[in-house]
Amino acid sequence: MKLLDGKAVAERINEETRRKVEELKGRGIIPGLAVVLVGDDPASAAYVRNKDKISRELGFYSQKIELDVATTQQELLATVIRLNANPAVHGILLQSPQPPQIKEEEVVRGINPEKDVDGFHPINVGKLVIGDPTALVPCTPLGCQRLIAESGIETSGAHVVIVGRSMLVGKPLALLLMRKGKGGDATVTVAHSRSRNLQDITRRADILVAAIGKAGFIRSEFVGEGAVVIDVGINRVVDPAKPRGYRLTGDVAFDEVAPKTTAITPVPGGVGPMTVAMLMANTVAACQYQTGSFVGRDHRS
Ligand code: NAP
Repeated sequence: MKLLDGKAVAERINEETRRKVEELKGRGIIPGLAVVLVGDDPASAAYVRNKDKISRELGFYSQKIELDVATTQQELLATVIRLNANPAVHGILLQSPQPPQIKEEEVVRGINPEKDVDGFHPINVGKLVIGDPTALVPCTPLGCQRLIAESGIETSGAHVVIVGRSMLVGKPLALLLMRKGKGGDATVTVAHSRSRNLQDITRRADILVAAIGKAGFIRSEFVGEGAVVIDVGINRVVDPAKPRGYRLTGDVAFDEVAPKTTAITPVPGGVGPMTVAMLMANTVAACQYQTGSFVGRDHRS
């Protein structure tokens, strides 16, 4: 069994990003990322701090905007409009989840699609569906695909089963893996909470992706011998032995599943770091497109 080290692959991708940032700086351009956080959810605040830290380390101009939990829809939209108009900002990320008064979809639609480094704007979703190489694609599925490819795992002709059909992970990942060409050409099955005989479906996977949000849901009986398992889940499980009182765990029961696999991602240290690396890569690509500095056909290859 091979452990798929997302941290190491993410570091390599960050190196590539750093080189691109240097190239841009040589032309007087500094890629800029703005991360907007509404409220004080501790997990969201930690994610934002991490994104801010890594973007600074890579040489970006980083703007962290922290808004009060009572921020109105109009105030948040006004922030987005200001960032759309700011030429120093090439990427805008709205940290989820939003407080209940915020209609997130409407705010996402307010982001200039060229600055939508999360890839959630309908224009980018549409571009992904039609296979337009300029699509900005959601970072987590992009990170899963890249981790699979960088680990030398062949997707062409493979049966990939994705459990989870969210717009954040499952659906865009299915589109990425079924597209023609490198890192794609898979036969993709997407399962969800209404799927019948789930174990029969998942056991037939060459590559099984769990994006469910339930700690340890994928047990040994869900996995066929020799499968590759990608665990997207990040769940907090109460653990009094830990200083914070909880530990992070995936959607896969790692200890019992790992021995059946040929390769598996750990949690933490698998898909998580890849997500952040792809956010940085998307921001550089967005900057290259906006400043006319992009050379090539597809920023993802
Ligand atoms: P989500 O929007 O809640 O979607 C969960 C999906 O799992 C849904 O499609 C749901 O089916 C399906 N599901 C739930 N219970 C199921 C069951 N018993 N059997 C089969 N399918 C079931 O979650 P998400 O945003 O995609 O996130 C999924 C997980 O990934 C979470 O743990 C999240 O924290 C993690 N995540 C990690 C990263 C990262 O960087 N590593 C990034 C994003 C998310 P229905 O559609 O039928 O409800």
